[in-house]
Amino acid sequence: MIAARSLTVRYGQLVALDGVDLDVAPGQIFGLIGPNGAGKTTLIRVLTGLLVPEAGGATIGGFDVLRQERDARRRLGYMPDFFGIYDHLTVREYLQLFGELNGLAGPGLAGAIEQALAAVRLKLKKDELVDHLSRGMTQRLALARTLLHDPDAFVLDEPASGLDPAARIELWDILRGLAQRGKAVLISSHILKEMEGLVTHVGLLERGRLLYSGPYETLVKAGATRRVRFRPVGDVPPERVVGLLTEHGGRLSGVPGDAYWEVELADDDTAVAALVGRLVAAGVGVSLPPVAEDRLERAFLALTGRDAS
Ligand code: ATP
Repeated sequence: MIAARSLTVRYGQLVALDGVDLDVAPGQIFGLIGPNGAGKTTLIRVLTGLLVPEAGGATIGGFDVLRQERDARRRLGYMPDFFGIYDHLTVREYLQLFGELNGLAGPGLAGAIEQALAAVRLKLKKDELVDHLSRGMTQRLALARTLLHDPDAFVLDEPASGLDPAARIELWDILRGLAQRGKAVLISSHILKEMEGLVTHVGLLERGRLLYSGPYETLVKAGATRRVRFRPVGDVPPERVVGLLTEHGGRLSGVPGDAYWEVELADDDTAVAALVGRLVAAGVGVSLPPVAEDRLERAFLALTGRDAS
């Protein structure tokens, strides 16, 4: 639904995109992830027809974004990273304006506005001035604007920037709903953690090159290790724990009062079960303190060779 082939973009000497290929199918949420300056916005500008690449091309729903611009645009919902200033408009007037700019009018537009407001959960705010909305509501309004013409593909440039966790979770819920209805969603971010649990597919971009493009699970499982945390429970002689865990490369971490052992194991259940089995056999009861979800970040670090510290 969203596709790019051999995209190359240069700004003077700088190669901002270097032969990028990309495919996002209906029902997928594709996270375009990379650090500041990786080329995410440049790629999005090409996908949305705003920037002409030096080589290669992009299509939306099979339509070339430059040569078949009108057909491609009709199928695309684009949410830029900058909202603009519309402080004199109410939410409904704002959507009316963008609907009309997209060629919608009359009862068709009124119906589309109602549907879009319901989809982003902003019905109660329709008579509010746009500049009275919170950041989270503003982002949802920007998404509502892209829903008006019922596109098949969505391209969202850093939609979560500046959102608190609750607002982000709400936006993610809405995006999941779109994917469940068969829409293709591409979303960019430089914060890997916020993509965990949302994306079905990932494109890892660094210095204009796509280091990985494919299913999330394949990426995080490839050569992955699992960081497991143990905390001895009860009156356990320290030497019993220390010997066993240092043998597995474990180290004591955490803060006084909340210390735990951290061990890096192969990412498979058998390795974890074997270690737990040995601990229990040695008379060490263990609990497993919660560990933050950071699989995507670790896969990125492994691919780029960056230091985790
Ligand atoms: P960020 O997360 O900071 O938004 P990004 O991944 O979106 O970064 P881009 O904005 O696409 O990255 O920039 C990619 C590279 O191209 C950067 O080195 C940037 O400085 C450079 N660049 C972007 N736009 C231009 C431009 N109009 N002229 C010259 N260089 C540019």
